[in-house]
Amino acid sequence: MTRRRSAGELARLAVEASAVWLRDGLVGRLRSRPSPPRAMHYLATHRCNARCVMCGIWKEDGGREEELSPEALATVLGDRLFGSMEYVGISGGEPFVRDDLPELCRVVLRACPRLKRLSLTTNGLLTRRMAEALPEIAADLRAAGASLDVSVSVHGMGETLDGIYGVDDAFAKTERTIALLEELRDVGSLSFSMNCVLLADNLGSVRELRGWAGRRGVHLSFVVGEHRLRFRTEGLDGAFASGPVEDEMISFLREIADDPAESAVAAAKYREIADMLEGRRERTLSCYYAMGGLLLGHDGTLYYCSHSREIGSCLERPAAEIFLDRGNLDYRRRELLRSECRHCPPYTRTRWEIERDLPRTLAGMAARKLRRPRRG
Ligand code: SF4
Repeated sequence: MTRRRSAGELARLAVEASAVWLRDGLVGRLRSRPSPPRAMHYLATHRCNARCVMCGIWKEDGGREEELSPEALATVLGDRLFGSMEYVGISGGEPFVRDDLPELCRVVLRACPRLKRLSLTTNGLLTRRMAEALPEIAADLRAAGASLDVSVSVHGMGETLDGIYGVDDAFAKTERTIALLEELRDVGSLSFSMNCVLLADNLGSVRELRGWAGRRGVHLSFVVGEHRLRFRTEGLDGAFASGPVEDEMISFLREIADDPAESAVAAAKYREIADMLEGRRERTLSCYYAMGGLLLGHDGTLYYCSHSREIGSCLERPAAEIFLDRGNLDYRRRELLRSECRHCPPYTRTRWEIERDLPRTLAGMAARKLRRPRRG
């Protein structure tokens, strides 16, 4: 399902990856302070049109009035902390409930002159809103030499998805969105993929979902549903796999890790999650937050990552001052990097992370090539 790259593209990627590996893998270890952030996740809103069983954000009272307006976002991103940003992800809540989303994306573009890629994560239920906003966002990014990627959350098919989202006809709506994204992809506006959170309610049908995505030729990645501070998951234990259901989830992860249709990068992620859940090892794969990424909340609160405590409000202090605050850095080093990260299952496999893990990524690719039967 992965696109074949030309020799020129591969050579450029190899040079870039070697530079990242040297800078972040070797020199980065010697630095006492994190390097300037190159990746950021921005939660544009806490409002959501779904009622997911594994997320409590939608139960919060906070509404539109707490969100950063495009002007407030421009002020926050005007700080030097954001000057090296290359990868920006926007999610929520549901980002497309914001009717000023194209304007927010323009603010990001203006504030981050080195931006390479903007990613939007959506539940895919607002097809009409997406049809209006995406061509405009894609055109702005293209004019600036950056690309647009959309990730649609699809946690099941038919009534399974309707039940997980708490929305009637959720799957039918998602299918309409997928058709829209296929059209936009085919005219070169964007790339898109799907993501599925593994939960107690969908484990019985994830193979069927994977087959459906495969037949459509759309990449589907899996992550493990877990408690996360930012998703306000207190009291939602029943949504997550435990006991025999967790064993079933581990079997599924091992099964897809061994499937030659998955890339070496995805296989390494699934194998690592399965090993971690079985208590066989701690996390070894890189995390872009730990490499110096950050998370910006809908109200201007800054976090080191999605497991981090709040480290300050960008409406009250300059972002760089918060990020490099001695007490915050101490918390980051002692509590996040030395403790939390060891047990945090890999969620993303961004280009920055893959480049940092270059030697093992190459070793994984070579091992799979050797195992793969020759054609003809
Ligand atoms: S706790 Fe997890 S998300 Fe946060 S920096 Fe560590 S590995 Fe990354």
